[in-house]
Amino acid sequence: STLVSMALSGLTDLWADLMRASGCAERVFEMLDRQPSMPSSGGERLRELQGQVRFQAVRFAYPARPDVPVLHDVDLALQPGEVVAIVGPSGAGKSTIAGLLTRMYDPESGRVLLDGKELRSLDPEWLRQRIGTVAQEPLLFASSIADNIRYGRMDASDAELEAAARAANAHEFISRFPEGYRTLVGERGVQLSGGQKQRIAIARAVLKDPRLLVLDEATSALDAESEHLVQEALERLMKGRTTLIIAHRLSTVIGADRVVVLEGGRVVQSGDHSTLMGQEGLYRRLVERQFVAA
Ligand code: ATP
Repeated sequence: STLVSMALSGLTDLWADLMRASGCAERVFEMLDRQPSMPSSGGERLRELQGQVRFQAVRFAYPARPDVPVLHDVDLALQPGEVVAIVGPSGAGKSTIAGLLTRMYDPESGRVLLDGKELRSLDPEWLRQRIGTVAQEPLLFASSIADNIRYGRMDASDAELEAAARAANAHEFISRFPEGYRTLVGERGVQLSGGQKQRIAIARAVLKDPRLLVLDEATSALDAESEHLVQEALERLMKGRTTLIIAHRLSTVIGADRVVVLEGGRVVQSGDHSTLMGQEGLYRRLVERQFVAA
């Protein structure tokens, strides 16, 4: 499953609330961001965040299936500013790692640390502000494009919003709509392509300006132009931020500082692309099979 479906699993309960709160965008945003394991407040706020991440002997099983371990003693380290790509067969646990880092879930044992502090000791609201995510198929609200981008930072000015859209290679297509940034998206509005939705989500993340990024790269092919614009926008977004990316494209794993290969909930290989290509192992097979079309 993906980040999107994880986010969706929390949405069923929220649907009734959404109905009650209909029309109140602020409240909808607030609810969509509430995550299963996160209390609403309390905990430490770090004065300065470097963005170093460590997983130490992390074991995890989903609450729905406590007898089926999904991660076994996972160790992982991301230095500040480092881009780490996770690859592995379907079901290996890639999205689960992303879910633990965004504190959608807490480990059963072991620790997830940010700058040496356990995630669960940190103020969830503070943490949420410092992690940006871009899902494979970002969920957009049935509201204007501007609202959807501004969700990254509610107090952003129109100029900041437009600058973020430009950095995300989204300004041009937005400006082509007669209503521009006021264009409604969703059922009653325009239908956006996958690549356009991703660029809106990237603009949202640019506006948020987080120390940490968790990206879930699209598996399905975007049209060639969109593909290039999304890649370029993502590269701009990742610059200088600690980034964990669930990678599906050869260009991404080649560009990453390090690749972590996951199989059956265990890290089986780790290193940069050329080092891993020089080894017998899952990585080379994945590159040969899975990435041939990339
Ligand atoms: P994919 O590439 O297909 O997205 P993945 O590597 O991201 O796969 P995960 O989504 O992390 O893998 O799933 C790891 C394991 O956990 C799988 O066996 C999956 O069936 C299981 N799993 C995922 N989400 C849940 C859930 N909400 N409840 C129970 N089991 C889950």
